[in-house]
Amino acid sequence: MDDRANISLADLDREALFHPVSSIHDLQTKGPVIYTGAQGVEVTREGGQTLIDMGAGLWCVNVGYGRPELVAAGAQAMQDLSFQHFFGGASAEPTIRLADRLLGLFNETVPGADMARVFFGCSGSDANDTALKLVIYYNNLRGLPAKKKVISRKGAYHGLTYAAASLTGIEGYHTAFDLPMPGVLHTSCPHHYAFAQDGETEAAFTDRLIVELEEMIAREGADTVAAFIAEPVMGTGGVFLPPAGYFDRVQQVLDRHDILLIADEVITGFGRTGAWFGSETYGIRPDIVSLAKGLTSAYFPMSASIVSRRIWEVLEGASAKMGALMHGFTYSGHPVGAAIAMANLDLMEAEDMPANAARLGPVLLEALRSKVGDHPLVGDIRGVGLMAAVEFVADRATRARLPVGAHKLVAAHAMNQGVLTRALPFLPVTSMSPPLSITEGQIDEATTRYARALEAATPEML
Ligand code: PLP
Repeated sequence: MDDRANISLADLDREALFHPVSSIHDLQTKGPVIYTGAQGVEVTREGGQTLIDMGAGLWCVNVGYGRPELVAAGAQAMQDLSFQHFFGGASAEPTIRLADRLLGLFNETVPGADMARVFFGCSGSDANDTALKLVIYYNNLRGLPAKKKVISRKGAYHGLTYAAASLTGIEGYHTAFDLPMPGVLHTSCPHHYAFAQDGETEAAFTDRLIVELEEMIAREGADTVAAFIAEPVMGTGGVFLPPAGYFDRVQQVLDRHDILLIADEVITGFGRTGAWFGSETYGIRPDIVSLAKGLTSAYFPMSASIVSRRIWEVLEGASAKMGALMHGFTYSGHPVGAAIAMANLDLMEAEDMPANAARLGPVLLEALRSKVGDHPLVGDIRGVGLMAAVEFVADRATRARLPVGAHKLVAAHAMNQGVLTRALPFLPVTSMSPPLSITEGQIDEATTRYARALEAATPEML
């Protein structure tokens, strides 16, 4: 093994790893970007360069990196009870307390919410798989075995397990994987800026989306449609804010047809939109909520699926007859993750991070508008809380598409300037979703660096 110590990390990476959502070809030719540390809102690359992480990892390090409170909570929890499974009724205190706290937090902050129980997993994808399985189980228990289809949206991102990738509405994630699986439908993407027809107002655009949804349900038969899944703000698709009245209208349609609403709050949960949950921001009353990322600020892989009382009552009512609920993972409810999540929530509360996101969101948007808003290829700058986007176009007047890819050049130049941003895969959109602990000064510095990067990238983009 000793000779391996002389191989560079980049070469070892090429020889030993394959990466999620990465080009094998690019990795073999250019090699990986290796990070060695992170503190606050900054990450450090091999070689010592520090970058402001305007992505908070993958929209997940909500309290920032290297927080000693979380490190201490994790270390103590590993000392106390390094693992406990939850199969067959086994349980443990940190997880019990976390479930109780999540229910309280959701029910107290989201008007009309009546959530009853929490199930834990390890990732956003598995939370959505759990939601899908519970929807199927629920309708089987209700004697509605035909009511199983799920409607998602084009541009949605719900993860990449087999079921979650099917819910995802971005073609690139389906290609060559034989996805989506049967029973998953995708209705239109509710992004007004790019998909509204000439002169169509936001209200008229919403009307059209609702008609389309109604037609899809009628075509399939309401007795075959079980659920509708939606991110309150679509993230990876392009940071799409719902158009005026959208969720109100969608919920009216779902209620009329006895269709459940799954809110995928994997990104929007835990302060990102300037409220604790995106459901509060947009008046959503979900039947199932998927949470991950900000739950532990990514210090531990953990997800949660919260179910409403109406679902819970069906599950509980049928339990004596059904026996055990045959779903779960070895790490469901992991006590170390739960202890870290509790410390994370303590920190978020102590520093009132949702309020920080609400206060700094407009600061970020204003900084972007003043520094890159007049650029001829910048079509739209938008956001809510600390979730922002710059959408590029070939022509501002016609909103003609810039090929997806040009914006990746900006992200590459931004790295050289010392700022990490995300070039999204579906539309030419750069997202910014920094840790909620970021300061005004850091936003100013990051956006200045981004403006310099755009300037440098422009000749290659045209
Ligand atoms: N749902 C949403 C809205 C997400 O943004 C993501 C990940 O980015 C997921 C689900 C999948 O989460 P994970 O990558 O933890 O499986």
